[in-house]
Amino acid sequence: MQDHVKREQMKTQVLVLGGGAGGIGAAIAAAREGAETVLVDRQGFLGGNMTIGLPLLAFLDAGGRQVTGGLPQEIVDRLIELDGSFGHRACPLHNSTTVIDPNLMKIVLFEKVKKYGVRPLLHCEIIGTTVKNGELQSVIVKGKGKEIELFADVFVDATGDGDVAFMAGAEYEKGQYANGETQPPTLMFTVGGFELERFMNFLEEHPEELKHGSSMKIRPGYTAEFLRASENHVFVGLKNTISRLRQEGKCPIDRDTIIYINLPREGHIALNCIRILNFDGTRIEELSRGEVESHLQILPLIRMLKEHIPGFEHIYLSSIAPFLGIRETRRIKGMQMIREDAAVQGIIPEDTIALGSYIIDIHSGSGDSTLIRSLAGPYGITYGATISKDIKRLMLSGRCISVDPVVFGSSRVMPTCMAIGEGVGIGAAIAAKQNITPEEVDVQTIRQKLREHGAILSLDGHG
Ligand SMILES: Cc1cc2nc3c(=O)[nH]c(=O)nc-3n(C[C@H](O)[C@H](O)[C@H](O)COP(=O)(O)OP(=O)(O)OC[C@H]3O[C@@H](n4cnc5c(N)ncnc54)[C@H](O)[C@@H]3O)c2cc1C
Repeated sequence: MQDHVKREQMKTQVLVLGGGAGGIGAAIAAAREGAETVLVDRQGFLGGNMTIGLPLLAFLDAGGRQVTGGLPQEIVDRLIELDGSFGHRACPLHNSTTVIDPNLMKIVLFEKVKKYGVRPLLHCEIIGTTVKNGELQSVIVKGKGKEIELFADVFVDATGDGDVAFMAGAEYEKGQYANGETQPPTLMFTVGGFELERFMNFLEEHPEELKHGSSMKIRPGYTAEFLRASENHVFVGLKNTISRLRQEGKCPIDRDTIIYINLPREGHIALNCIRILNFDGTRIEELSRGEVESHLQILPLIRMLKEHIPGFEHIYLSSIAPFLGIRETRRIKGMQMIREDAAVQGIIPEDTIALGSYIIDIHSGSGDSTLIRSLAGPYGITYGATISKDIKRLMLSGRCISVDPVVFGSSRVMPTCMAIGEGVGIGAAIAAKQNITPEEVDVQTIRQKLREHGAILSLDGHG
């Protein structure tokens, strides 16, 4: 028997693995800082979950102050120019909503990586790592019948699932401490033919449809009037109707509310409703089950909405996201870990590289509820939470950084993931260019550079 694997080698200064919110931030910031940067993704486009119809949540904190700026803001500014976003709007439920056109997001991200000189390596699945004396040497990717061994000075795991850290043997946590449950995945899809005015009239007549269970307290102001006032909104509600339809056996989904995102395209909304329970997003068998089950829920869900909800009578399926959206898998243990107390109390340490301000939002992995908890104020995400404690030269970006499961309910949102990435990318570039390890980089230098690019690191008006 002969082994016919073809393998090439490639070397770069900074290698970012995964091109979602965390990876985009890291790769662009590293390249902007002058480091030769390669960005790997398994898809033929960049953006990960930023391309599946979701809104960017919590650019603003609960008080309406902007807490994420820098590169994430630059991306939104470009979307606004292209009529692909209405910008940020304060929201009593989500802090703020920034609805975006997912197709334009793909184009804007390619514009940006090209502008800053990131080299994308797409259609590549990460399949292995080589580690010597606890130090990451290379990451192996595979595409089109060929393996490429990628060497780098600094590696950034931005796969969402922490695949690189996992393969390299880093310690990690997964799920809630109490029961190991992870938040459920959702297959996003969009529909056209939605009649906003008609639905708003229905909500005005039925304000009880905007009230939530005890686990989902909202601040006053989340009313039909608020939603009607701007196309830049995310709807969460219909609890009464959905509960009744579930009791009558007419509802195909395991959740108690409907969430839609009003897209910047008239009559189009993205539905964030499907929920696959008792799921493990790190297993291919589970991902396969999830894709099948969730695709098969789409048509019954559309039928239910058409038959029972005013404004939805003429909706039609217009697109299905290219992959199941995975909310939660591994969190890789870093040199620091951000814990519930610090986040809930709104502590912003001196080595903060990004602010988080989104509410704690934990979707049940086994039931129909969602736990919502507010914060005292924005909290700091520290540089040490983005450096693997076990594997040298490995940094983390996006949702797999070192936080506990409660903080994860907040830090996982996309503006925060991009902002974390921006700090990580600067740290990685400095380490690579100065031939030092990421932990040897002076955090105040990173913070200074972040401020120069418009990032927000404190609420005192000085960035
Ligand atoms: C259903 C759902 C609803 C959500 N709602 C919101 C919301 O409304 N607003 C909000 O701001 N946030 C929301 N979130 C959270 C947010 O989308 C994610 O936490 C965030 O996108 C994580 O960013 P990331 O870069 O870490 O991961 P991702 O966006 O998942 O990006 C990871 C990238 O790595 C690539 N990749 C992964 N593994 C490999 C591999 N082995 N080989 C090659 N490439 C790989 C993927 O293709 C992907 O491009 C939601 C999440 C889900 C799933």
